Amino acid sequence: MADTEKSEKAENTEKIEYETVTCHACDGLGCTYCNKTGSVEVRKPAKLCPKCGGDCCIYCGYTGWEHPRGKYE
Ligand SMILES: [Zn+2]
Ligand SMILES: [Zn+2]
Repeated sequence: MADTEKSEKAENTEKIEYETVTCHACDGLGCTYCNKTGSVEVRKPAKLCPKCGGDCCIYCGYTGWEHPRGKYE
């Protein structure tokens, strides 16, 4: 019996950090895209959506930010 497969991957679980930024769809007023909070959590470091430059598009979930913490995660 091979007992050499000791997993050292326990430390390998990358922690994704998020930061809170102002929702570009509503400019902080609150809308359906940000759950009416006016802000969204995006993956660090926060960057504007490269597709729309912050104008909101389908790629950024209409938040204007790249990698918004999604409903899909
Ligand atoms: Zn919003
Ligand atoms: Zn976009």
